[in-house]
Amino acid sequence: MTLMDRFKDKIVVVTGAGRGIGQAVAAAFAREGAKVAVLSRNEQSCGQSASAINEDYPEAAKSYAVDVSDHDAMQECGKKIVADLGSVNILINNAGITRDGLLLRMSDEDWDAVLDTNLKGAFNALKAFQRTLMKADDARIINVSSVIGIIGNAGQANYAASKAGLIGFTKSMARELAPRKVTCNAIAPGFIRTDMTEVLGEKIQEEILKIVPLKDMGEVEEIANLALYLASPEARYITGQVIAIDGGMTM
Ligand code: NAP
Repeated sequence: MTLMDRFKDKIVVVTGAGRGIGQAVAAAFAREGAKVAVLSRNEQSCGQSASAINEDYPEAAKSYAVDVSDHDAMQECGKKIVADLGSVNILINNAGITRDGLLLRMSDEDWDAVLDTNLKGAFNALKAFQRTLMKADDARIINVSSVIGIIGNAGQANYAASKAGLIGFTKSMARELAPRKVTCNAIAPGFIRTDMTEVLGEKIQEEILKIVPLKDMGEVEEIANLALYLASPEARYITGQVIAIDGGMTM
């Protein structure tokens, strides 16, 4: 087995793969031989993301427009993916949003939207794929959390709660599924160059870089490489871990 076909015959589901980290993760698995389901709410963006992947790796990706916060829609989407692609081996819960604001001004809607997508969305996806994942003898679940779920952040109480929740979810899931040889880990990215961080503007970006020892932003491909490793046979003995990839921000 060469490195490039490490994931041949594997079916990988990546939520929030219309752009950014999710798209890079989906492309990395496609490059290494997997068939990838590319999920996001917007039909056009997940369609374009899958097409871009297919240009480089023909027929590797298929897009599915779904809102992970919608339990029933996610169940339907899960059935369709299994019917189209076959049994799922790897689930990457990456879909996430921010609705920043100071607590005193934070609305119910902003709290719920972030928790429903970032935390409940991961639960919904697990429920949609649990049967098929249990059939695989080497299933892997990777949840994309955040350093904010570890250290918190003023103005991001909803986001921090969702990402900290995802860490508890990861560890509980890892304990429950370990007897079935399923591993479950969380990646906690720091400050990564994507649309999500682009909107912050130059001034806030400069402020954030002051607390990053490596004084640089991370790249989506660096998150993708960690996801590949955690999903690979080499990471068989790693479960229930939260791995920060953050330029030293949380050391
Ligand atoms: P991004 O560029 O904003 O992309 C987010 C993706 O998620 C998009 O494809 C979006 O597409 C999809 N999405 C959002 N809500 C969804 C929903 N309810 N159902 C399905 N798909 C949904 O974000 P990113 O920077 O790549 O971040 C990806 C993940 O990494 C997130 O969980 C984020 O919290 C986490 N993270 C990012 C950073 C960073 O510095 N960038 C740092 C730490 C953690 P649609 O809008 O079409 O649905």
